[in-house]
Amino acid sequence: MGTRDCQHICDESSPAVGEAGKTGEWRDSFPVIDQEKCLPARQNKPSCFLCWLYCPDAVVSRTIPIRIDMEYCKGCGICAQICPVHAISMANEAGFCRDKTD
Ligand code: SF4
Ligand code: SF4
Repeated sequence: MGTRDCQHICDESSPAVGEAGKTGEWRDSFPVIDQEKCLPARQNKPSCFLCWLYCPDAVVSRTIPIRIDMEYCKGCGICAQICPVHAISMANEAGFCRDKTD
């Protein structure tokens, strides 16, 4: 997904993707996006992207639709907290069978 390119907002905090390794390996919850609620997807135009801006691991894409790199998402839930339309919810990893073959 790359580092952020918004120099004005993020100049002093530009995390590199995966600095702590594949954090998806030890995450205990993960974000689920409802694309029908997500504003860029609903409007089919660039808008909002607060989850991209606030994600501390820079693993949210600024695309339509948005994507989250689960290899590095650490499940902090900030994206779910910041979303103005509640398009992201957190699900528990326990009991969820994810395909880890990559
Ligand atoms: S913060 Fe919510 S509405 Fe905004 S881009 Fe992210 S998921 Fe979509
Ligand atoms: S749960 Fe945290 S690390 Fe994962 S996408 Fe959301 S803000 Fe980023």
